Amino acid sequence: MTRTFLGMPATAPAGVGQLRGEESFPAAARRSLADPQLRRNLGHATRTIRAKSAGVIGELPDWQELRSAGSAIKADVLARLPELLEQLEAKVTEAGGVVHWAADANEANRIVTDLVRATGSDRVIKVKSMATQEIGLNEALAEAGIEPVETDLAELIVQLGDDRPSHILVPAIHRNRAEIREIFLRAMPEVDPALTDEPAVLAAAARRYLRQTFLHTKVAVSGANFAVAETGTLAVVESEGNGRMCLTLPETLITVMGVEKVVPTWRDLEVFLQLLPRASTGERMNPYTSMWTGVTPGDGPQAFHLVLLDNGRSAVLADEVGRQALHCIRCSACLNVCPVYERTGGHAYGSVYPGPIGAVLSPQLTGVADNASLPYASSLCGACFDACPVKIDIPELLVHLRAEAVEARRRPTAESVAMAAAAYTMDRPRLYEAAQRAARLSRLAGRRGRGLPPPLNGWTGSRDLPDPPAQTFRDWWAER
Ligand code: SF4
Repeated sequence: MTRTFLGMPATAPAGVGQLRGEESFPAAARRSLADPQLRRNLGHATRTIRAKSAGVIGELPDWQELRSAGSAIKADVLARLPELLEQLEAKVTEAGGVVHWAADANEANRIVTDLVRATGSDRVIKVKSMATQEIGLNEALAEAGIEPVETDLAELIVQLGDDRPSHILVPAIHRNRAEIREIFLRAMPEVDPALTDEPAVLAAAARRYLRQTFLHTKVAVSGANFAVAETGTLAVVESEGNGRMCLTLPETLITVMGVEKVVPTWRDLEVFLQLLPRASTGERMNPYTSMWTGVTPGDGPQAFHLVLLDNGRSAVLADEVGRQALHCIRCSACLNVCPVYERTGGHAYGSVYPGPIGAVLSPQLTGVADNASLPYASSLCGACFDACPVKIDIPELLVHLRAEAVEARRRPTAESVAMAAAAYTMDRPRLYEAAQRAARLSRLAGRRGRGLPPPLNGWTGSRDLPDPPAQTFRDWWAER
């Protein structure tokens, strides 16, 4: 395949996989908000992860310095991405692996499907991977008659429930244990009909099913958290050990990795291995950190393929403001602190990337016009920026993308008219004073507590209209 990185136009890639929402965020969010069980599950889960994460981050006196180091490494990677990717390719090849370059989702799916077919296997085991969800690999494999089996417990719950993930780290965050029991009874092969909803019993049932699958499947598909260019080493971090089984037991391993995941050296990896577990699961280190370099005769998979995925990333890289979204290490800390995500959950974002990072990454990968409502799925409170271990300024990106969305529509909206009127008024002191007086008069006339009239009533539909102060600052100043 051709290497199209950096030379691609700033348009949506030909195959965007599962990045495009079927309906706008407000419509989908309204449905989620009407589900009290979902809100209870989300509130409980995000509060628990937040508290755990804050505890272990508080133990590190140099957390802010680590964040700055992570941010600087990512900026350096993006500044010389082609060079690092070529170094990675050379090292992986030297170590016995095969590197494939995929410009978009369609091409990546075709490469993986052909590789699996060539092994003669009709089933693959999978390590949890955002990149393969992004390209819709499971659906592409199923269409080709190949059964993909998710081995991360939460991903397995989502897959058996014929559902969609709603959190980066905890894909089944919207399910409680009673619902999980029902899903297992309905869809897990050879499950004990006396299954209870005790967490240990549910985990044991999944373990029994997965162990048989690990032992009888010859091909695994994984993503990668990082790839070290200087040695061609890939790294996957996970909590359950399922990843370790997938990465070591099968004969063939295929890894699909977004091009931005490369880091220059092992010293750089050290920074991220400290940042990621504390920000994501609230642990001091990941329970399982698996690393491999090409193939080792007689040990582990004897065929290794690395698929380097662009799928819109070159276009994101071309945007000097937007490119910082590619710093993301998928820790999900921004989801856990976001007041919007906590109430709507991940499905409302209509994309495999939910929460604040999804609100900025998905529109950039597909083109803003295809996900125009997502940059507005935020109160711009800034909690995501404070929580991000690699200091991505998500509020800045949201504002940047809102400007692009407005530009794309190129027609006046209630918001743009209101903003233009406010700018015109604030530029003219006399007019501004008159407007302040009018606002106070309307308060006296009894508008207090009511919403704004159309077309501005959308803003007050879910907010209280603040009362203007009894006295303006100018009057107060003049008095004194
Ligand atoms: S944007 Fe930052 S906080 Fe959010 S998932 Fe990515 S790295 Fe984590």
